[in-house]
Amino acid sequence: MSDPFMPLFSVRSGAGFQAAEGVHGLTVQIANVYFIENPAAPNEVILVDAGMPQSADMITKEAKRLFGSDYQLKAIILTHGHFDHVGAMEELLKLWDVPVYILHEKERPYVTGKADYPPAKPDAKKGLVAKLSPLFPRHAIQIPNVQTLSPDGSVPFLKEWKWVYTPGHISLFREKDRVLLAGDAVITVEQESLADVVTQKQELHGPPAYFTIDTKTAAASIQKLAELRPEALLTGHGIPMMGKNYREELLTLAKNLASVL
Ligand SMILES: [Zn+2]
Repeated sequence: MSDPFMPLFSVRSGAGFQAAEGVHGLTVQIANVYFIENPAAPNEVILVDAGMPQSADMITKEAKRLFGSDYQLKAIILTHGHFDHVGAMEELLKLWDVPVYILHEKERPYVTGKADYPPAKPDAKKGLVAKLSPLFPRHAIQIPNVQTLSPDGSVPFLKEWKWVYTPGHISLFREKDRVLLAGDAVITVEQESLADVVTQKQELHGPPAYFTIDTKTAAASIQKLAELRPEALLTGHGIPMMGKNYREELLTLAKNLASVL
């Protein structure tokens, strides 16, 4: 059974945005999903992440608005399996019987009903969202049709993209314009702070501290992403950042994150 609606909001909830060529974002309450067009077949759409619980209507309405009513959802790719990224999965799969590509073998137990995510850490960083985090669902979900992405880094339907493994997540990267779809490996809002989440104040941050099992690994992941020299950061939370090379800023973020250990 899908999780109940969670009363968490931001000013941008329901707002769609053009994120990069052929990539459209939608803020679902406090988390972003992305629609990527298949350049080889314009009405074919790949959805990256599945939003908050009870958001299937919002996601499908936006897809219709963007691509017309004869669009075809071909696959869902998950950056990771936290509740705010898989919330509409069950409803979406009732509408579209499509494969779901999941992260990496190591993350598979969380989406095949085998393992719950570890308990949240409300005191990892100050902030009201962090305080509320023990209330967030973290039980293993059971997604039928789960497929693992190919180890060669290729992304189904999307030839221009590669997937990059950062433990706990995958990111998607398109080299031609250096667009990085980072999931929560790096985000552009201070997700622990309710005020910042509501206003979507744009600021570069590491993954939500309350769900970060190992800060050292999270810092190493950001460093790995920095080496891609991304010029657009489309993240699981917050307003995308684009228009410059973010390598230095990501390296600084990784360093700062590692230094609080
Ligand atoms: Zn998230």
